[in-house]
Amino acid sequence: MTSTLYVVATPIGNLDDISTRAIHILKTVDVILVEDTRHSQHLLQYYHIKKPLIALHSHNEAKQSIKLIQRLQRGERFALISDAGTPCIHDPGCQLVSQAHRANIKVVPIPGPSALTTALSVAGLPYKPFLFEGFLSPRRAMRHKQLSSLAKQAYTLVFYEAPHRILACLDDMYHILGEQRQASIARELTKQFETLYHGSLIELYHWLRKHPEQCRGEFVIMVTGYPNQKMNELTPEILSVLTTLLEYMPTRLAVQIVHQLTQVPKNKLYQASHR
Ligand code: SAM
Repeated sequence: MTSTLYVVATPIGNLDDISTRAIHILKTVDVILVEDTRHSQHLLQYYHIKKPLIALHSHNEAKQSIKLIQRLQRGERFALISDAGTPCIHDPGCQLVSQAHRANIKVVPIPGPSALTTALSVAGLPYKPFLFEGFLSPRRAMRHKQLSSLAKQAYTLVFYEAPHRILACLDDMYHILGEQRQASIARELTKQFETLYHGSLIELYHWLRKHPEQCRGEFVIMVTGYPNQKMNELTPEILSVLTTLLEYMPTRLAVQIVHQLTQVPKNKLYQASHR
């Protein structure tokens, strides 16, 4: 048995969503590193896992990691878990993992649930590429800045959000990203009140405003990216250029010029000209 740091994914709601390998690792390591001891007890008791626990959270990670690395170097085996889902995905653990790499300690992922991948798997939105932003700032001015910098990105955008900010966040999103942008909201995934909503940002905002009971729980918001105009699409702007050119030159010439500039197929341009 060599020193190893296992990074173990745990359920995001339904306690049965854990792999056999994860349970085996949690039962065989020397220590389990947890974000919150009381929170993790619930899962560990469910699987009859009794191990020494050490708290590793955002407030003590820097200090604690130094001591933990020393223990790992002496040959111990640790499992790192977070309150829910995959550690280091918007959760503590990255500093420890990075220090373990630097100390040449083996780091082994034990994959499993994450709210990010679970939500994307049922959103039905273009998945390639996507941009995971995590939580937006709780401060409105900063949130506006963040959303403005994302507004023209062609990626599907993925956000985590807390219940007390879900409405404010959607309000900002539809104002900055655009009312008609299509989005999906995944609420309370794998739990009793699991709900998926799809629609434009403004529809989702008004729907949630009307149904305050749906604003409770945990949320993942996914928004389609800024529409990437296809080079060969006959947009209203291209049509308007074509119409103007047709006033001054023969159809053949107008079609040729617009085709060269936009790559819109000539037959589409001829059809539009005749119309
Ligand atoms: N490490 C976790 C993961 O892999 O998904 C994420 C931890 S982050 C601190 C917690 C946030 O994840 C929540 O505020 C919520 O936005 C999202 N989340 C976690 N569980 C969820 C669930 N069951 N349904 C929807 N969102 C969830």
